[in-house]
Amino acid sequence: MRIVLLGAPGSGKGTQAKFLVEKHNIPHISTGDLLRGAIAAKTELGLAAKEVMDKGNLVSDDIVLGMLKERLGQDDAQKGFILDGFPRNLVQAEMLSELFTELSLSLDHALLIEVDPDEVVARIAKRAEIEGRSDDTEEVVRNRLNVYKEQTAPVADFYKKQDIVTEIMGTGSIEDVQARIEAALRF
Ligand code: ADP
Repeated sequence: MRIVLLGAPGSGKGTQAKFLVEKHNIPHISTGDLLRGAIAAKTELGLAAKEVMDKGNLVSDDIVLGMLKERLGQDDAQKGFILDGFPRNLVQAEMLSELFTELSLSLDHALLIEVDPDEVVARIAKRAEIEGRSDDTEEVVRNRLNVYKEQTAPVADFYKKQDIVTEIMGTGSIEDVQARIEAALRF
């Protein structure tokens, strides 16, 4: 099964992905995690990406696509995956479609986790206290939400045209959201 998770920063994509990994035995591929891995490894790419990420802007499409292609080529991704954080704009959505055509793959589900902006801001503020991510400061979060609205939200429409989007209400308990996702995957 190949799934794309869509939703604003703080909508719970990472949390829900963890459950999907256990339940469906497919890897969680998060471009944010891949980028943070490059930063931690102090690669040249990581250093360049950090500056962009710390402002809440998007890293270049080619860099992220390159990392993603490499990850999708690994053994564990051959049985399927949960993609989180990609595609993040329409160019990336087109890139992913081309890549899938090249590899003769298709996407089974695009799950759009919906949480209203106030709730998202509150969740990220809480996470910031616990995790201390350098892009979770108030000003940067505001920019990330703007980038989401302007660049990432249109990606949902892209997949709606392919009729593979399910909107998931992202409020309530983690288990509630999980149950909604499992119900959506049965179709
Ligand atoms: P969140 O969903 O909470 O914003 P992520 O971990 O998905 O967190 O992303 C953190 C940052 O990593 C983004 O703000 C962006 O700078 C960068 N990033 C992640 N995925 C992509 C992508 N597909 N294209 C460009 N930049 C990305």
